[in-house]
Amino acid sequence: MTTARRLDGVVVANQIRAEVAPGVEAFRARRGRPPGLGIVLVGEDPASEIYVRSKLKSAGEAGLRADLERLPATASLAELLAVVDRLNRSEAHDGILVQSPLPKAMGPDAERRVFDAIRPDKDVDGFHPTNVGLLTQNRAGLVACTPLGVIELIERSDIVITGRRAVVLGRSHNVGLPMALLLLHRHATVTICHSRTPDLASVAAQADILIAAIGRPAFVTPAFVKPGATVIDVGIASLTDLATVERLFPEGSKRRETFSRRGAITIGDVHPDVEQVAGALSPVPGGVGPLTIAMLLKNTLTAAIGREGSTPR
Ligand code: NAP
Repeated sequence: MTTARRLDGVVVANQIRAEVAPGVEAFRARRGRPPGLGIVLVGEDPASEIYVRSKLKSAGEAGLRADLERLPATASLAELLAVVDRLNRSEAHDGILVQSPLPKAMGPDAERRVFDAIRPDKDVDGFHPTNVGLLTQNRAGLVACTPLGVIELIERSDIVITGRRAVVLGRSHNVGLPMALLLLHRHATVTICHSRTPDLASVAAQADILIAAIGRPAFVTPAFVKPGATVIDVGIASLTDLATVERLFPEGSKRRETFSRRGAITIGDVHPDVEQVAGALSPVPGGVGPLTIAMLLKNTLTAAIGREGSTPR
C-alpha cells in the first residue's frame, strides 16, 4: 500500500507571503502608505468571526493596513451597501472583502447585490461580474482566492496541469466554477460535476487531478480516485459527532486524540482512506485553507498596484 505525497498548503502559503512582503514594502515606499484592505462583517456568525480574525491578523503581519467594519445582524442591505460605497471611495483602501454568508434576513439576492456593488478594481474576492468575465476570457483581473490558491499549490508542487484530465466536484461561483476555468486556461481537459451529475464516482475516477469542493464531509472515497491521481480537498466541515469520528479514524490516531481534547475536528470532503490511493493529496486541515488567506494578501497587493496609475499621490 502506498501513501500519497502530502501537498503542504502551509509551506506554499508561507512562500507566497514571503514573496508578497517586499511588494508591500515597495508600495509603502512609493506611496507613503501601505496597501489597505477593508473587511466588512455583518452579524456574529462564529465561523465568520474566526475567518475574519484570521484574515485581519495575516494582513497585519504582511504589513497591510486592514480595517474591520462591523454591522449588526439586524443591519439592512441599504446600510451594508452604504459601507461598501464608502470603502469604494476610500483612497486608503485598495481591497474590499464582504464576509459571507450574509444574514438570511437581508434577502436571497443580498450577496449578489453587495458583490456587484464593490468596485471591480478593489474586488479582492474576485466575485464581481467584471472580474468573472475577465477570468472567463483568460485576461488579467482579480481572481477568487481559494481556486487561485489551489493552482499555486499544484504548480509549486511541480504537478503538470497541461494535457491532464481534471475533474472539479462543485460548481459554485466562489470555488468550483473559477477553479474549472483556471484549470482550463492551463490546458487541462476539465469536467465540472455537481449535485445532479449521475454516477459521480466513475466520472471523478477519470481524473488525473481531482478537486473536491462540495461541502460533504468524507464524501470522496477511494472509489472516486484513480490510483496515483492528485487530489485537492477544498471542503471544510467541523465534525462534532463521535460515531462518525470513530468510523473515519482508527483508534489511537491523532485525529481521534484531537477530537477527545476539543470535542470537534475539522475535516474535508475527502475520506481519509483516499490517502492510500492518491499519488498526491492536499489534506484538510493544512491544505487549501492557509492558501486562501495568502492569496487574499496577494490580491490586495495586486489591487493596490493596479490602482496606482489611477490614484493621486
Ligand atoms: P456551495 O456554494 O455550497 O457549493 C457546493 C457545490 O457542490 C455545488 O455546486 C453543489 O451542486 C455541489 N454538491 C453538493 N452536494 C453534492 C453532491 N452530493 N454531489 C455532487 N455535487 C454536490 O459550497 P462552496 O462555497 O463551493 O464550498 C464548498 C466547500 O469548500 C465547503 O465545504 C466550504 O466550506 C469549502 N470552502 C473552503 C475554502 C477554503 O479556504 N479552504 C473556501 C471556500 C469554501 P449544485 O450546484 O448542483 O447545488
